Amino acid sequence: STAQPLSALSADQLASFRETQQTAYDELKASGLKLDLTRGKPSTEQLDLSNGLLTLPTQVNDASGADTRNYGNLQGIAELREIFAELLWVSPDQLVAGGNSSLTMMKDTLVDLVLFGGVDSPKPWRLEEKVRFICPVPGYDRHHTLLDSLGIEMITVPMTPDGPDADAVAALVADDPTIKGMWLVPTYSNPAGSVCSQDVAAKLAAMPTAAHDFKIFWDNAYAFHHLTEDEVKSADILSLASAAGHPHRPIVFASTSKITFAGAGVAFLAASPEQVKWYLGHLGKGSIGPDKVNQLRHAEFFGNAEGVITHMRRHRDIIAPKFAEVQRVLRERLGGLDVATWTDPVGGYFVSLDVLPGTASRVVELAKAAGVALTPAGASYPYGNDPQDTNIRLAPTYPALAEVTPAMEAVATCVLLAAAEKLSAGGQGR
Ligand code: PMP
Repeated sequence: STAQPLSALSADQLASFRETQQTAYDELKASGLKLDLTRGKPSTEQLDLSNGLLTLPTQVNDASGADTRNYGNLQGIAELREIFAELLWVSPDQLVAGGNSSLTMMKDTLVDLVLFGGVDSPKPWRLEEKVRFICPVPGYDRHHTLLDSLGIEMITVPMTPDGPDADAVAALVADDPTIKGMWLVPTYSNPAGSVCSQDVAAKLAAMPTAAHDFKIFWDNAYAFHHLTEDEVKSADILSLASAAGHPHRPIVFASTSKITFAGAGVAFLAASPEQVKWYLGHLGKGSIGPDKVNQLRHAEFFGNAEGVITHMRRHRDIIAPKFAEVQRVLRERLGGLDVATWTDPVGGYFVSLDVLPGTASRVVELAKAAGVALTPAGASYPYGNDPQDTNIRLAPTYPALAEVTPAMEAVATCVLLAAAEKLSAGGQGR
């Protein structure tokens, strides 16, 4: 390619480059696109993979003989817990199968910590003067808005390809007792696509913390969502933490939202036996049992852990070409120009695009005016504040493959125009 860094262009070359991008953008705007890259949702074709659920279960009793249609069994049916315990490397009696949303389980857990305190808390978090959480950035916006809604302050650490910057976390928690926990999406993180290494997990499990009830919210939402044949396994955080003498530190969350139906799946929580008992104790004040009919049909649908793995390969076949197309367009349009870097994730639902500092919101604005919806700039940062205004989250699973191409072509044009504007305004052309 003849591409050279934009910053190396002379003032005249830059002016003409900007001219070209403006023309391309004007044409784009006139073409009347209506495309959406905001939603980390499964496509209809992916949802259809699980339509077998709609005619299940074939029976009403679970393996223990209990009638799933009735009240009871707060922890969820054993046969489904066995399947997901094997996949998540936990013991079935340390796993809770709940309703359709793991985010709700995270919220319940946080609310219980605030109202009542945890199994290892000196007092309820509401009685602490200040409670703070560490958020690896870029991260998942709903994690941030949930903390904010409870008055929990957020401190950021960088997300690296191997997970959160463990040294930065360890330095923060060592002597600040107001830091009570952290978020961690260990597998194919939203949006960075990072996989938490064994080493990082072990450090976080073992590090000394000033708060005795420090929690790792281990949100394994994308545990089985591989995009390549290299199917990574998450670290066994419960065992690592137990071995390090902090059995109550991690709370593991997962769900079938992006395995079966995003709106009608089953969510899971795993923790130390004491912490599971604590969670169920509080849950039982507001529930007489989960939707066990849904749990039974999921157990019938998968049959066993292998059934889940096979099912995920069908998802991969549908979405991997969309991710490949995102890479192709970014590489061909932006490669070598030094105006952007992006992740090439091997799993999960997102591509994280970093554009020239100070241009992310401009790119999103330009794209919107051209009919392409992008996640608001800053969404992956606490308080919506990306200090560098550089990060854009791309979510290619929901649109059809034939829509990913024009959407990404449009994104590339907006990135180039915003960069040309920025560089000419900054007078960096030579
Ligand atoms: N955690 C992460 C990291 C996610 O990306 C999502 C979905 N966007 C969720 C949790 C939501 O999970 P659930 O559907 O189980 O509530």
